[in-house]
Amino acid sequence: MAKTQQEYEKMAQSLTYPTQAFIGGKFIDAKSGKTSETVNPATGKVFASFSSCDENDVDEAVKIARKAFDSGVWSKMHPTERKKVLLKYADILESKLEELAVLETLDSGKPIGEVMSTDIPEAVHAIRWHAEFTDKRYGQVSPSGDGAVGLVTKEAVGVVACIMPWNFPIMTTTWKLAPALAEGNSVILKPASQTSLTTLRLAELAAEAGIPEGVLQVLPGSGSVIGKALGLHMGVNAISFTGSTEVGSQLLEYSAKSNLKKISLELGGKSPFVLCDDVKDLNKAVNAALAASFWNTGQNCTANTRIFVPNNRKDEFVELMLKGLEKDWHIGDPMNPANNMGPMISESHFKNVMHYVEKGVSEGCKVATGGHALNIGSGIYVAPTLFVDPKMDSEIITHEIFGPVSCIIGVNSNEEAIKLANDTNYGLQATLFTDNLQNAHIYARQLKAGTVSVNKYCEGDITTPFGGLKMSGFGGQDNAEAAHEQYSELKTIFINLE
Ligand code: NAP
Ligand code: MG
Repeated sequence: MAKTQQEYEKMAQSLTYPTQAFIGGKFIDAKSGKTSETVNPATGKVFASFSSCDENDVDEAVKIARKAFDSGVWSKMHPTERKKVLLKYADILESKLEELAVLETLDSGKPIGEVMSTDIPEAVHAIRWHAEFTDKRYGQVSPSGDGAVGLVTKEAVGVVACIMPWNFPIMTTTWKLAPALAEGNSVILKPASQTSLTTLRLAELAAEAGIPEGVLQVLPGSGSVIGKALGLHMGVNAISFTGSTEVGSQLLEYSAKSNLKKISLELGGKSPFVLCDDVKDLNKAVNAALAASFWNTGQNCTANTRIFVPNNRKDEFVELMLKGLEKDWHIGDPMNPANNMGPMISESHFKNVMHYVEKGVSEGCKVATGGHALNIGSGIYVAPTLFVDPKMDSEIITHEIFGPVSCIIGVNSNEEAIKLANDTNYGLQATLFTDNLQNAHIYARQLKAGTVSVNKYCEGDITTPFGGLKMSGFGGQDNAEAAHEQYSELKTIFINLE
């Protein structure tokens, strides 16, 4: 049974957790001895200090990861045995649901109910799915005729670094960690500075599950130091990154300047929501538009922040959104299981989001609700905000805000909606609502996004590849078999039979 806020707070105070770097199966200080403090976004209070690694720790982690890889302790383990270890890992995580949720909420300010019902179950599911795939991954035999056998095989890349964002720490980490380990790689995780806590605990639990020493490293510390050092390192074979478009393009530079390591980028978005003019009942679409705008307090790469609705339904749509917001979306302390929206991740991010909110207000754009900060807890809570009909060249339409801020835009036709929806440099996800089967197919094809969700707001599921088009991504996808391609390389073995 779900606990109360007081019970979760008590757990948060009594739980112990690792705060050092995890290298070679041990928790150790950064070589420099440096640490940095971490804050609970809900209260603004420092609750722990983490080791702050630098280039020297990166060197050490890469050396140990390589040694583990070359030893074959994991990379050459029979796939079925690797699968068993990963399945055990999933079981352990599942058994720690409450503890992990409390830690995640403490560190990231994510609403605890959401973490318990979505982030951790999804993470467990992702590990199981990729674990099951471990011993079901086949190569190919080429149609090379009787004179030869061409084997197209898949091999682990070697040492893989995963550089993570702060918005879904456990979930996105397992999206990368599970397929990378399933393929037999050694992995170095670099969590976002704001959210190292659960990643370090995940490493501890991985060791408990039987992932051998040296196969998994976690380096807490600054991205501009560690991320850059990993990007430039000659011993790292691949990097999987989720984060901003700016850092993503820097990683491509690091790769070009070093060993041409494989780079997979899951980047930002400014995703559209299109309500077609054939939709009769608006309720389902309105609920989806609310989730698309406010899930994870808008700190979500697929947040739908440009909602296109027919002009003749706009007033009704806005009114229903306001009603739904009041009924189903509750902002406040994330340790309170009744809340499903919390604070911004940090004060500096709060300021970024408020910059856009104030910009929208000062441009004279109609504010249907919100448009201001909220005086709760640490003071970095932004009121869920809906703008109506901003100018198409205003910053709130062109820039990713990454907060609970969304825009509703009236259009005169489905075609106009699709044209405006595609008028962005991003292309991560798009939502389409229609009652008409033909429209569903025609417009889903026309929307330029890595995932188009029809009659639901979602990112697909573990069985469907997730990644962006245009400036939302490049070089590989998370989830499904596609994720395994990020962490493996094709090799041809051509045997002459003549
Ligand atoms: P970010 O600033 O790009 O940070 C992401 C990661 O990169 C962090 O671990 C960060 O470390 C590290 N980093 C920073 N500078 C680096 C450098 N020079 N070289 C290598 N690594 C570096 O993004 P964020 O603020 O965490 O997350 C917000 C962004 O992520 C948004 O744009 C959002 O759209 C995107 N996002 C995309 C997806 C997706 O699947 N497409 C999912 C979630 C989020 P520090 O934390 O230490 O700076
Ligand atoms: Mg924190």
